[in-house]
Amino acid sequence: MSQDASARVPLARTFTASQDVCPEDGSRLWIVQHRRRIVHGLDESIAATFRDTRCMREDCPLHDRRYRPAEESMLVLPKMSFGLDVVTAVGSMRMREDASFPKIHARLVERGVPIAPMTVQYVLRYYLALTSCVAGRVDQKLLSTAAQKSVSITPRSLRPRTRPASSLPTPSPSPPTSCSS
Ligand SMILES: [Zn+2]
Repeated sequence: MSQDASARVPLARTFTASQDVCPEDGSRLWIVQHRRRIVHGLDESIAATFRDTRCMREDCPLHDRRYRPAEESMLVLPKMSFGLDVVTAVGSMRMREDASFPKIHARLVERGVPIAPMTVQYVLRYYLALTSCVAGRVDQKLLSTAAQKSVSITPRSLRPRTRPASSLPTPSPSPPTSCSS
């Protein structure tokens, strides 16, 4: 059943980082920061509050380290408002079904995802960046397919050298530029 994206009301959810003890000195970790983000998933939008923790001992070497809720990285990429389920759905529709961007956009809107047509292309870049990270190497077949579909892969190391950076559309927010372990 199709949904009206404008009718989607984000569900309030709170995620709290570990409140166990500091690995350095055994002190209890305290909640020191609340970060709020809206995350649009395939089936629901979440008004998420992420509560970060920190060791409060000022003489602790890890005093400045903040711990984030583990759920956050499973839910959404940094600086992104669309969930990982949306990212993988866009990638699957584009790379496996060869669906056009307008078709992918229409399907997402039908599910209630409040996404703009152009944003679908930016989301695909995240998917390509993620899959290249998972592979641990540059997948030449993926690059070739992306090139045929006129999709630019954002990480600088993967950009074709012949294409000037100024010709690339600037996504907002910026996709990840490196793979993290
Ligand atoms: Zn500590």
